[in-house]
Amino acid sequence: MREGLILRQFLLGQISLEGHMARPAQVHIDISALQHNLQRVRDYAPNSKILAMVKANAYGHGLLTCTKALAAADAFGLACINSAVKLREAGCTKKIVLICGYFTREDLALISKYNLDFVVHHPEQLNLLKDFTSSKTLNVWLKINTGMNRLGLDPADFDAVVADLQKLDSINIECIMTHFAASNDQNNTSIQNQVDIFHSTIAANNSYPISLVSSAGTINCPELHNDWVRPGIMLYGVSPFANLSTVELGLQAVMSFTTKLISIYRCQAGDAVGYSGTWVCPEEMMVGIAAIGYGDGYPRHVPSGTPILVNETRSAVIGRVSMDLIAIDLRACPDAVIGSDVELWGKNLPVAEVAAHAETISYELLSQITARVSRTETV
Ligand SMILES: *Cc1c(COP(=O)(O)O)cnc(C)c1O
Repeated sequence: MREGLILRQFLLGQISLEGHMARPAQVHIDISALQHNLQRVRDYAPNSKILAMVKANAYGHGLLTCTKALAAADAFGLACINSAVKLREAGCTKKIVLICGYFTREDLALISKYNLDFVVHHPEQLNLLKDFTSSKTLNVWLKINTGMNRLGLDPADFDAVVADLQKLDSINIECIMTHFAASNDQNNTSIQNQVDIFHSTIAANNSYPISLVSSAGTINCPELHNDWVRPGIMLYGVSPFANLSTVELGLQAVMSFTTKLISIYRCQAGDAVGYSGTWVCPEEMMVGIAAIGYGDGYPRHVPSGTPILVNETRSAVIGRVSMDLIAIDLRACPDAVIGSDVELWGKNLPVAEVAAHAETISYELLSQITARVSRTETV
């Protein structure tokens, strides 16, 4: 009996050669889709350099896998200096920009040692910089706050900061940048206001390269491409716009997040499913249990009805998401069996759709998949 079960699990690919049961939750990365999307950025912005945003472990896709695949980009953007060091130690020689700047003197020492570019967004940062002697030239990206009110120099401080930096021998101003608060909202007038503030701020220092746009502006605002575009989400095959799909933008989904059914059972009308019984079966029906939960990074707060694919057939999550498991309504999928493939998001189910049900954005779902999920890639 037990041997039969083990054989069956092995045939289903749930048991590894070592004989233990491998959890079937998996992230699969499609390298050629990533490279295709980088080429789409080139098509959209043929005259600009590309600062490929790979922060947060390349939006959850894997930093080293993605930077290797994105060798045709001109630079990589990161938030954490530790990731930048890891990337250099893995052999990356491309320009790396620390988009949140630096916080300590030790950071500056690493910046110099590993040849990292960095953002200056606050006059306070200059105090550390003035006291730091570097044998190498340090490349600064100056960030102006033009209305998002997150990171960036007050426009009133800009000329003085430029003058201070120009006095420092080891500093090169590489680029002047800003970030838009609502670049993916096509009806929003804030972009033009921010562009106007940007240009009036740099009027007295307008000979430096400029960088304004992320994915949304790369697609939508050709007049704002300037010297550097900074795409993130579109590289991973996710549309930055609610009303335009991945396919409509000529992009390809890079990540597929999948698992398998590990149990199936029949419920009667009136049976409640999962913690607190938030979902009650309206009729006699089959319910599937998949090996995925919030412990893997699947969002806990998706409601019943959230789409999920079983054997590529659109089905629905029912009841509460647990740490390791979810329940699925199998009425649309009568041929489902233990071991059937389940896609949480990917090529056939856009992550944006799941994000909408979870009342969040694709960025969060992609970047919060946990370490216990196994990872594979194909070229
Ligand atoms: C993350 C980030 C981007 C990329 O934004 P997407 O919407 O993912 O294209 C661009 N610029 C800055 C400063 C960022 O922090």
